Amino acid sequence: MSRIFNFSAGPAVLPEEVLKEAAEEMLDYRGSGMSVMEMSHRSKVYDDIIKEAEADLRELMNIPDNYKVLFLQGGASQQFAMIPMNLMKNKKAAYIVTGQWAKKAYQEAKLYGEAVEVASSADQTFSYIPDCSDLSIPEDADYVYICENNTIYGTKFHTLPDTKGHTLVADVSSCFLSEPVDVSKYGVIYGGVQKNVGPAGVVIVIIREDLITEDVLPGTPTMLRYKTHADNDSLYNTPPTYGIYICGKVFKWLKAKGGLAAMKEYNEKKAKLLYDFLDQSSLFKGTVRKEDRSLMNVPFVTGDAELDAKFVKESKAAGLENLKGHRSVGGMRASIYNAMPMEGVEKLVEFMKKFEAENLK
Ligand SMILES: *Cc1c(COP(=O)(O)O)cnc(C)c1O
Repeated sequence: MSRIFNFSAGPAVLPEEVLKEAAEEMLDYRGSGMSVMEMSHRSKVYDDIIKEAEADLRELMNIPDNYKVLFLQGGASQQFAMIPMNLMKNKKAAYIVTGQWAKKAYQEAKLYGEAVEVASSADQTFSYIPDCSDLSIPEDADYVYICENNTIYGTKFHTLPDTKGHTLVADVSSCFLSEPVDVSKYGVIYGGVQKNVGPAGVVIVIIREDLITEDVLPGTPTMLRYKTHADNDSLYNTPPTYGIYICGKVFKWLKAKGGLAAMKEYNEKKAKLLYDFLDQSSLFKGTVRKEDRSLMNVPFVTGDAELDAKFVKESKAAGLENLKGHRSVGGMRASIYNAMPMEGVEKLVEFMKKFEAENLK
């Protein structure tokens, strides 16, 4: 067996310890005589798995008691609709457009009400986070929406926008559990887990209880009402059982690593190694304004598309995979999520140095 260093933006690298443990439990989960995949979601043994996963997540993120944790399906993209359907009481919401995922959410919201773009960084290819300290947010907006970490462009809100008292809704798909957060500042925090937490197929929604009501837009399907899932502890219908089980293992892994404060420190070290190299390189260049850089997704370019392609090809041969940038940006992108070890980033920087020496004219 040999594993490569996987810099994919998602689905992405998972902790090796977690994968090994899951492999050991594949055929017989702790004396149950079956795989977690084969188990009823109504069984006692599965109930323990989902309850423990929730308890561990609550502990890791220090989630206040007046928030529900929901394990749902449909990916982060389903939330683009579910949020307006459930939250747009006044049929109006403010969107901060900092990349493609925020834009998709904004466009989807327009199907259900008035979505107002209150800030955008489209003018410079989403390479920065706009100043959100004094936005003009409509008085009657039901919420302010952000994509907190922009997976494609490599930017992150290091300061949350001033919502002027409005509910903050955040897509944290690509920065979930990468650092501590103050949950009480948000109305809704959600993310698809396939970026930084687990296997594709699970989306976690952390939502303040007062936002879960029967008062949803007419025609909202039962499955797309937060209340349906909140009232049934995420077991209204069959949840993505195996995915939740793996997420639970990742939560335990994070706890054993020292929790989110320790994770942040580790992530900062990894990112610094790469950014420091980029900042002094005469061949490679980071594409994001320094103060808005993400700890998770690091896009960079040489400025020459052919050389970029050569880099991607040769890095793959060196055991560093999925470094090709998103098709909309080009260049390269290294996603260095929680489960990417320091060794992977060290190998990447070593390879970049070598490539630079060989290709700098
Ligand atoms: C990947 C991603 C999405 C889309 O996730 P799906 O689960 O594929 O719907 C949405 N938002 C962000 C920030 C992402 O990185």
